[in-house]
Order: sequence, then structure tokens, then C-alpha cells
Amino acid sequence: MVKADNDKLAHHFFSCAHMLFAHVAVAVPLRRLFDYKIPEALESSLSIGSRVEVPWGRQKQIAVVVNISDKTEFSADKIKPLSRIIDHIPLLDPAMVALKNWVAQYYVCPPGEVFINLLPKKLKTGEIAKPEMETYWQLGDESAFSQISKRAKKQLSLIEELKQTAEIADSRLKQQGYAQALIKKLSELGAITATEKIPLEHDVKAPVSLAETPLTLNDEQVIALEQINQHLSTFKPILLEGVTGSGKTEVYLQAIEQVLKQGKQVLVLVPEIGLTPQTLGRFRNRFNTEILTLHSELNDTERHNAWLKAKLGLAQIIIGTRSSVLVPMPSLGMIILDEEHDISYKQQDGLRYNARDIAVKRAHLQSIPVILGSATPSLETVNNANQNRYLKLKLTKRAQKTAPPVPELLDIKHQPMQAGLAYGVLQCIEQHLNAGNQVLIFLNRRGFSPALICHECGWVSECQRCDNHYTYHKSINQLQCHHCGDIQAVPMQCHDCGSTQIVDWGVGTEQLESFLSERFPEANTLRIDRDSTRRKGELERKLEAINKGEHQLLIGTQMLAKGHHFPNLTLTVVMNLDHALYSADFRALERMMQLLVQVSGRAGRGEKKGQVLLQTHNPEHELLQTIIKKGYADVQNYLLDERNAMKLPPFQSWALLRVEALQLETVLAFCQQTSNTFNPYLQSHYQKVVAIPAMPAPQEKRAGRYRYLMVFESNHRGHLNAAMQHLTQLLEAQKGYSTVRWTLDIDPQELN
Ligand code: ADP
Ligand code: ZN
Ligand code: ZN
Repeated sequence: MVKADNDKLAHHFFSCAHMLFAHVAVAVPLRRLFDYKIPEALESSLSIGSRVEVPWGRQKQIAVVVNISDKTEFSADKIKPLSRIIDHIPLLDPAMVALKNWVAQYYVCPPGEVFINLLPKKLKTGEIAKPEMETYWQLGDESAFSQISKRAKKQLSLIEELKQTAEIADSRLKQQGYAQALIKKLSELGAITATEKIPLEHDVKAPVSLAETPLTLNDEQVIALEQINQHLSTFKPILLEGVTGSGKTEVYLQAIEQVLKQGKQVLVLVPEIGLTPQTLGRFRNRFNTEILTLHSELNDTERHNAWLKAKLGLAQIIIGTRSSVLVPMPSLGMIILDEEHDISYKQQDGLRYNARDIAVKRAHLQSIPVILGSATPSLETVNNANQNRYLKLKLTKRAQKTAPPVPELLDIKHQPMQAGLAYGVLQCIEQHLNAGNQVLIFLNRRGFSPALICHECGWVSECQRCDNHYTYHKSINQLQCHHCGDIQAVPMQCHDCGSTQIVDWGVGTEQLESFLSERFPEANTLRIDRDSTRRKGELERKLEAINKGEHQLLIGTQMLAKGHHFPNLTLTVVMNLDHALYSADFRALERMMQLLVQVSGRAGRGEKKGQVLLQTHNPEHELLQTIIKKGYADVQNYLLDERNAMKLPPFQSWALLRVEALQLETVLAFCQQTSNTFNPYLQSHYQKVVAIPAMPAPQEKRAGRYRYLMVFESNHRGHLNAAMQHLTQLLEAQKGYSTVRWTLDIDPQELN
């Protein structure tokens, strides 16, 4: 971005013979770089990618040098010199600077958010870029051994241990019960000596060795691995589409082995570390090599150390959650992104990036393969594979024999309901509990705004203009079409059968929990969702309690569908399937289908046979029939056709502007003014970009603030990006709206 701008504006720039300028990113919410003079004495020691300290008003700021040139847009005598260089060896290598530049450009965000805010905290505050050292003890002078008293058993045993292992970390010795005083004594005698080192479990320079024999691959796995191995030194995005339990992880492991043998590093991205302890274990069991994990549960020091070890090439495998995609690794040879469809790869606040898309870009910039694995790949990725932009590899068979259960549709029209559960379902739950098994009630809440459904016949009110169902907005008690904005009163009666039982089934987890505890007092009920697992380690504790059989009835959201496997769980009930069928968010259906495949995949893994029940008013719905009778591949085609027909992503690019304020009038006025100034601009400059009229968010009021959405869509990504660059400039300058908060979301994943 910066470079292009510089070229374009070159004739405006002041060029000075012997003066160099640093163009730096500073942690401020402005979409631009800032220029500083490089004092002559520092010229030779400053590189792109280094942190510097710069004067900022009367204070100082930490900045990252994004570019160095002899030009500046400003008059050279107005530009201040930078204060000092923090990194004499650049913190970010050129590949990472290029990637971060791309991120700032693509997501139309302030460079400081990418270059500064994503750094570990201690690096943000200017601390030196060195991982913590640890003291290691080795044997000292042999002549000193004789000075140790024969009765000093403990001292002698330490000497013996060091004879065996060459060196032991100080912290390890303390764990083993060697007192500080004892260590000091031996050190004073010269019997042991200390060195300071970065703590590592393995020698990173040693060639890779396996800690266990790899499994013998089945035919499909062999083909997949061969294909991957053919693309080891080129850019190649590979979709590994394999049903749950088909052995994707084994393919990753054997592909990684090849990369490690080339002396390169591998980055493995996973949705949530807490949910996949088994996966971590499998990596550690396979390789005698330094493996680092990077995730949000690390404290500042742990994060600092892990980040720097990755940057220094002191770990061969890095397993991390989404933000790890922007951790520098000097000899990266492959990126693997497991469960590529998972929404956790999308950061939903601050810098709203998608780690999957950045991973593909990173692989492109570094000419390496990137493997996207999933049983239920996102439509974006499937579309890329269909267009031959990605190589598609399939694993269709489970590595082990058990087949997943086929979900059963349960028609709940007319059924007596309690807390959103049909009578038949309650009976079924009872049977499974009586047999001593566990039951999971699955409640899908995320991003789903309700539609009103006739409980007698399944009728849903639809917009005449768009063939789109209306969304029910509780706060205004009205229906609204999210395509065209049309508003309708809530119907008193069903238009088809005349019933007055029009319902939205908006049951909350707490309400369900209290009903179930009363209805099944013998069963121990446990609720697992974001709110109940916020504290560190809470989720792991709960999962363990479930596996120990401490709970029989589980109430869960999306979180429980992933990666987890409970051998005693035999019944899964999906309560509000219809919310996805009639959601205001066009992705809701895709998500629901992925989830059905995932929950079914979980259910059939243990010894016991599993059952999956889906409550719906629409058992005849074509998509439900497709998923049950044909499977996810047909669902993909169905949904892709629909998206194509309706001109929705991935066939169009979207940008979403979220606007919120305490007063509804303020929000409306802001949206109106934005449209008034921006839409004519689109007309004259970017006709391929279409602005959809502002709509209330499905959750119109959150934390006391009114929320509106403005969508911009285009079949030309470049034009959309350029238009959004202009929009943000316009909004940054828009006066009189200091109480409005706005955020721009490129490729939004949730319309909320
Ligand atoms: P996925 O990652 O696709 O869900 P996994 O790699 O976890 O699948 O494999 C599922 C199970 O099958 C694991 O227990 C794994 O050890 C086993 N498995 C995978 N590949 C093979 C193979 N080639 N031979 C025998 N067992 C295998
Ligand atoms: Zn009806
Ligand atoms: Zn409409």
C-alpha cells in the first residue's frame, strides 16, 4: 500500500539529497504511516521491520519501520528525527513486513493495529526482543569433586545426575528438591558451573527424529500425502476434505515430517487450543522436536518467549490459534490450518481479520504450500477448489470402522412443547438417561435472529418482493425483510391455516437449564457456552468432569460440537434447527449443516451407538432431506447454487460497516449522511460497488446502544477495496458524530 501511494504521489514528495526518512506504523487509530528523519549516525544501523522510538506530541511512542526512503510528503524541515532504534536486528523480517502491509491494505485498517497491536505486550512497550534465559548447570572442575564431603549425599547425587545428563536447568533442580544453598555451595567449590541459555527441550539443530512409528496409511491417505509432497516447495493451497475420523491428522503428521527433514518450520493453526488437547498430544508423541503452542491462555511472559522462539527459529513446529498466523518464522516451509471452516479463525473485534485468508496469502508470499483441512469446508474454500485455484484432496472413509449415525428429523408441528423441547424428545432423553448414558442438548444461538413460525403448519411469513422470510425484531415487535428493508406488522394468525399459534421459540440456555434440572432431577445438568467458560481453565475442567461421568445432561452451544468426543454420549438433540432455516444471516444454513455433520461425527466414535435428533417444523425442507439422504457434498452444491443465484459471497465480495450509538436518531442520521455523501461517489467512481440500504442489526440494541449495518457488495474485489479506503477517509473526517462508533468488517462472517 505504502509503496504504491509513494509512487503515485512521487511528484509531490520532497526529496533531499542526503536525508533518509523512516515511514513508521504507530499504535493510533489512523489509517496512515508517519514519517521521521533518520539521524545520520543511525542510518547504517536501521532496517525495515525494526522497532524505533519516535517523538509523539510531548511524549514518545514505539513504532515499527515499514519503509525507508529519501522522500517524504511533508516539508523536510517540519519532520522530527526519530529518537532511538530499539531493534538492531529487525523484529519483523521482510516477508512479515510485506504480509502485514497486505493485511493493513486488505482489511482497510490502521497500520498500527497490524504492526504494533498484534505484538506480544512486552514488545509493544519497547522491551528488548530476547526470550528469557534460564540458568543451566554443568559439571565443573573434577578436582573439586574430592572436596565434597562423603556424607553430603544430596550434593553427591547432584554430581551423579550431571554425569548422566550433561546439563540440568536450575528450575528443574529446584523441582527435584535441590536447595538453593546446596547449588550455591557446589558452585563455589567449582564442582558445577552455570551457563545462561534460552530454555529448549530439544536440540533444534539436530536432524528430526521420530518418537514413534507413523501409521501405515490407507489408499486415500497415500494419494493425499503424495500430492502434498509434490508441492513442497511451491505456493499451493490444498483443501484436504476428509470426513471426521478419516485420518487427516495422520496425513498432516506425515507431511510435516517431510518439511522438517528439509530443515524447515511448520505452522499449524487450530481453532481453539483448549478444545484440542488430544491433537497437541499427537504432535508431541510423534516428533522429537521443539514444539511451541501459542494461544490466548498464555500469560504475557509465556507469550513473549514463545513468539521470540518462533522468530529466532528455535522451534520447528508452532501450533497456535488465529493470531499465530502473523508470528514471524525465519524458515517456514508449510502452513496447516485444521477445521478451516471454523468461525474462530475470524477475529470478531478490533482488527477483524480472517486467519485462513491471511494464511493463504502468507503461503503465497513465501512460496510454500498451505493445507486447509476440514470435514465440512466453507463454501469459500469449496468454491476456490471448484475453480481450480486450490487443489482438492478427499478422504471419504473413516480410518476406523464405526459409521456416524444419520440424523433423524423430528416433526414438532402440533407437538406439546416444554421449554422448547417436544414431548417425544423428552421421552427419548429419559430413555437414554435411564440407560446410564449422557445426553447433549444443542442450542444454537449465535447470530440467529428468529423468524415467526406457525406451530400448527410450519408457515413462515415471506417478503413478496424478495422471496425472503421476514426477521422478527422483538424490540420493535415488527417483521423486517433483510434484503429490501420492508417492514410488516406481526401477524395475528397464520396465513395458511389460520392458527393463532405463531411462535419464535427463542429459548435461552438458562431457562432450558432450569427446566431440565426440574424435569430430570436425578441427572446432573451442566451448561457449556462462552459465558460459563470464560475463566482460564474452566472449559478443560468441565470437559474433564463430563468424561468422568459427573454430568449426564449437557446443554451446549457450538463450542461443544468441535473436536470433542465423549464416549458415553449417545443422544444429541438439536433444538432450534428452524432458526437457521429462516435466519437473517445467509451463512446460518451453511453453519447449521456443518454443525450437524460435526455433531453426528462426534456421536458415533465410542463403543456405543449414537442417535442424533433434529427438531423442526419443516421436515420436508429440501436441504434437510439432502443432508440426511446425500451428505455434505450435495449440501455444498445446493448452497453454492443458491448463493450464486442470490449474488451472495463467495460470488460477491462484501464489506460491512457497523454503526452504533446510544440514540437511535444519531445512528440513523449518521447512516443517512454517509449514504448521501458516499453513494454519489460510488456512482461516479466505482459503479461495480453497490450499497445496500442500512438495516438494523438482528440484535438491534446491545449494551444500551442501537446498532445498524450497512453492507457494500461488489463482484470486483479491487474496486470494493478502493471504495472502502475512500469510505474510511470520509468517515474519519465526518464531523459532528463523536458519539457514534463505527467499524468496518471486510468479508464479514456474521451479520450481527
Ligand atoms: P481426522 O483428523 O480426520 O478426524 P484422525 O487423524 O484423528 O482423523 O484419525 C481418526 C482415528 O483413526 C485416529 O484414532 C487415528 O489414530 C486413526 N487412524 C488414522 N489413520 C489411520 C491409519 N492409516 N491406520 C489406522 N488408524 C488410523
Ligand atoms: Zn399455519
Ligand atoms: Zn424483501
